[in-house]
Amino acid sequence: MDRLEITWPCPACRHVQTAPWIPGVTCTRCGRPVPGPPEGLTDRPLERCSLCGVGELYRQKDFNVRWGLAIVALAAVLAYWTWGLSLVGALLLDAWLYRRVPWVVICYYCYAHYRGLPEVKAYETFDLLKHDAYKTLREQGPTPIVLDHSGVRASGRSADGQIGR
Ligand SMILES: [Zn+2]
Ligand SMILES: [Zn+2]
Repeated sequence: MDRLEITWPCPACRHVQTAPWIPGVTCTRCGRPVPGPPEGLTDRPLERCSLCGVGELYRQKDFNVRWGLAIVALAAVLAYWTWGLSLVGALLLDAWLYRRVPWVVICYYCYAHYRGLPEVKAYETFDLLKHDAYKTLREQGPTPIVLDHSGVRASGRSADGQIGR
């Protein structure tokens, strides 16, 4: 398993930061602790977001879109001198980069980003409907109930019937 890393917006002060995901991580600005990786995470996927306890998770390539666009823009400039071959090269390069970059798993609700998770293919890919449902939830209400460490499940509010599973 790769090294676990988390990027999260602090629920207390909204500060966005990245750190190795280990027990005892705290917000660098306000000191609010972040729950560490749950037990058994090394061989199975995360069931739900550790940070907000409610969100469902999706995976996407940890690809910096601006880089991809910059490569294509440069290739377009060079296309005149290379009879367009630079564009072909740029597309191949983008495809190659895309294959090489790892997946990042993201929470629909709080936008926590998890890197280095095991079984990353087990997560679904991005779903715009869910994204919008969680966006509405986020804008409407108080922070959802967070799971306590005894493993008792909090009943998440149901937007599409799946959140409170
Ligand atoms: Zn904070
Ligand atoms: Zn979350």
